[in-house]
Amino acid sequence: MATVSANKPYRVGRSRTGLGLFATKPIKKGAKIVRYFGPLLDSKKKKDDAIENKYLFELTNRWTIDGSVRANVARYINHACKPNAESDVKPRKRKVIIRAIKNIEPGDEINYDYGTDYFKAYLKPIGCKCAACEKKRKKKRAEARAEKLRLKAKAERKALKEAEKQKAKAARARKAKAKAKEKDKLKLVAKNGTKANGAKTNGARLNGKSLNGKALNGHGRKAPTAKSGILAKPQQAAESRATA
Ligand SMILES: [Zn+2]
Repeated sequence: MATVSANKPYRVGRSRTGLGLFATKPIKKGAKIVRYFGPLLDSKKKKDDAIENKYLFELTNRWTIDGSVRANVARYINHACKPNAESDVKPRKRKVIIRAIKNIEPGDEINYDYGTDYFKAYLKPIGCKCAACEKKRKKKRAEARAEKLRLKAKAERKALKEAEKQKAKAARARKAKAKAKEKDKLKLVAKNGTKANGAKTNGARLNGKSLNGKALNGHGRKAPTAKSGILAKPQQAAESRATA
């Protein structure tokens, strides 16, 4: 970690993505924070053009600052899509100054926008970890969660509705069955009612039988006459035998 003199308004510290540069004193908007410096590389020189690291700061088509040197504290400044500082490039002077574009409070991390080329080459593939992008991702995740919950609730409502529908259907079926049963019962009762009346008529018939019984009694009364008839016959025979 680079040592920063105490009178500087910043320090190197732990950030979300590793190390970062943090304000230790209030920094006014527009104030110079730190110079981004290092050896100047000339793209016309084969040796210079072969150097490759992520701290290269292109000034012009020809000149590039190699900021990978340890003394370049500005190399600790992380990229942000909504930064509080900017890289003020002075191509003619071959100088880069990191300058505040907002009032920065002690404890705030200092950021500047690395530019589209760097973003496309290094940050887009792994996903930008700056506060603004993290916030955006968090919002998206929250929205996805909310959408998931909404869909779940919808499915639950649908299932409940379906269950109620089935319940109502079953209740209707039960009711219809009960009604049919009741109807059958009524039919049976109606049938039994005529039978009961029939029983009464049977009773009348029984009375008829009892009339028959009377008739039997009548027959019974006839019997003695028949008996006397029979009795008369031998008498007649005896009489005829007597006359013979
Ligand atoms: Zn970002």
